[in-house]
Amino acid sequence: MIKENLLKIKQSLPENVTLVAVSKTKPLVDLQEAYAAGQRVFGENKIQEMVEKYDALPKDIQWHMIGHLQRNKVKYMAHFVDLIHGVDSLKTLKEINKQAKKHNRTINCLLQAKIAKEETKFGLSFQEIEAILSSEEFLELENIKVVGFMGMATFTDNQQQLQEEFSALKAFFNKLKTQETALNILSMGMSGDYPLAISSGSNMIRVGSSIFGNRNYN
Ligand SMILES: *Cc1c(COP(=O)(O)O)cnc(C)c1O
Repeated sequence: MIKENLLKIKQSLPENVTLVAVSKTKPLVDLQEAYAAGQRVFGENKIQEMVEKYDALPKDIQWHMIGHLQRNKVKYMAHFVDLIHGVDSLKTLKEINKQAKKHNRTINCLLQAKIAKEETKFGLSFQEIEAILSSEEFLELENIKVVGFMGMATFTDNQQQLQEEFSALKAFFNKLKTQETALNILSMGMSGDYPLAISSGSNMIRVGSSIFGNRNYN
């Protein structure tokens, strides 16, 4: 079913939208099936699990870290991670920069914006993002590049609320894009809400259960 699910989703996507196949908790055979169907971008939310899968699978896969980061574990993925979605502090950016430097790389990052009205979600306010991007300390970091933003909407069926949350981040993204030329990725949308995220301006979606089926945990 994984192949069929993937192809069905891909057919429905505008050309400018990148599909990140969220394979967290899923066994290698599932990722191999997606790989055989042509998928090359995978997202994981635990560093250790991503490292194990990276070691076991073909090296032309692009690995995206989509989970909340534990700073002390950044070093384990610094040699291969392609994009880190969930960065929500300058402190974490500094750690990523430090580890990237050891491998002579530049690591692309997305700042996670808080768009959900729920209290529990991680993320930065738009003001905090602007403060980071214009700080001296940030401008000194040569081994990271902030290439866009990531947002998670409230877990709700209320389409209007979802659209308001996505559209707010899109508007902020557009505004900052005029000043920060490196910004080109807006990561919004999961299995339950990606069509709406795309119509609200997302160009990168993170889809797990609609491809791989439901997870038992996480
Ligand atoms: C698990 C996860 C997803 C995928 O969720 P699905 O509902 O299974 O598509 C997307 N983004 C993040 C940050 C996640 O942790």
